[in-house]
Amino acid sequence: MSAHPPPRELPLARRSGDPTIGLIRRVLLVCLAVGAVAVVAVLVLRWDDVLVRGISPVLLAVVLLFGWVVLRRPEATVPVSRLVLTGLDVLWLVMMATRLAAGPGGWAALFPTTFMGLALFVVIGYLVYPTRWAAWHAAAVVALGVGAGLVGLLLGPATATRDEHVVDLLRYAVYLGVLAALVWVLSRTKEHASRAFLVAEHASAEAASMREIASRDPLTGAANRRRLQEEIFYQARVVRSGLPVALVFLDLDRFKAVNDVHGHAVGDQVLVSVARALVEHVRSGDLVARLGGEEFVVVAPGMDLGGAAALAERLRAAVPTAVRREVPVDVTASLGVTALRSDEEPTAAIARVDALMYRAKRGGRDRVEVEVVGHAGDVQAPPSLTGQDEGSSRLA
Ligand code: GH3
Ligand code: MG
Ligand code: MG
Repeated sequence: MSAHPPPRELPLARRSGDPTIGLIRRVLLVCLAVGAVAVVAVLVLRWDDVLVRGISPVLLAVVLLFGWVVLRRPEATVPVSRLVLTGLDVLWLVMMATRLAAGPGGWAALFPTTFMGLALFVVIGYLVYPTRWAAWHAAAVVALGVGAGLVGLLLGPATATRDEHVVDLLRYAVYLGVLAALVWVLSRTKEHASRAFLVAEHASAEAASMREIASRDPLTGAANRRRLQEEIFYQARVVRSGLPVALVFLDLDRFKAVNDVHGHAVGDQVLVSVARALVEHVRSGDLVARLGGEEFVVVAPGMDLGGAAALAERLRAAVPTAVRREVPVDVTASLGVTALRSDEEPTAAIARVDALMYRAKRGGRDRVEVEVVGHAGDVQAPPSLTGQDEGSSRLA
């Protein structure tokens, strides 16, 4: 596992892959549609109010522009939403202060739209602010809104209805306070969910990278024996559906002498360059695996025996040249070619193609030995070689 713990505070939708962003956009669009209708309704109903006539068109323009951003620029939705919301918060407070300063009639004009607006902002804040910020935003909006109302009422001229207004305001304070508390709880829940989402994503990336490491040969980067066995296991089931799958086994000739003469490090370079040459010469869907030592296996799905024999011949010819280009060492390879059988065990398939490769060794090395169709089941590892090389028991 990585040494870095997941971050504590998580932006709600930092990545475009965040599944919540689509939901946020849909809810925002509904809120904006409701907002646009409300602004138009207030404008029509209270056309004689100068403040309404001045602010409503601006509000409508902001709502429409915001809607366009949500629809057409999803990646900008969250930052733009925060900006617009902060602007609306400030506008609302200024509007409340202006109303209250206008005298006794001003208070009546605040009901109910202005206070409903505050409730809407608290909800939108929950959607667009990073988790804990949503709770702080809700608390600030409620405290400032109610505070501004109280200060305006208590400092304003004493009217017959002032006590009634104070009671109204306190009722709204309770209502908005409950909403803010709910947002607090929900935002904490959301914070936990976001963190769990990131932890899960982190763990799944980690698992994928562990799987990748576990299936690679560290020296050459080719697939390792474990991965090879998995692939053969899978491909043996593919053969059942009638698709041919070929196996090519390559073993370098007299590689021990390369190590003895040039050193182990040069031997390693040879192995790396052999793996590279194999990858270059096979198709993209083929698997190149290092079985161990100086032995490689190519799994070629969809390739019949004839195609695989030609491929093996190309590899036999290409490997010495490719190695020579990178390391000053002359090597040759012996190869065996077989067709994977339906539902065959990986161990059995590798043993058969290994035996064919040994046949190539016995035939003089630097050659390809292909399975003879009809007699393939007879191919056995030669007793003389079985005991002395790791190959005979390599997958037992
Ligand atoms: P043959 O033609 O019969 O295959 O002869 P050979 O020498 O290639 O066969 P043998 O199996 O006797 O030797 C394989 C050698 O491969 C022995 C070992 O030193 C070498 N070898 C195995 N793994 C590595 C490795 O990771 N790096 C290096 N440099 N050499 C390795
Ligand atoms: Mg060998
Ligand atoms: Mg060898």
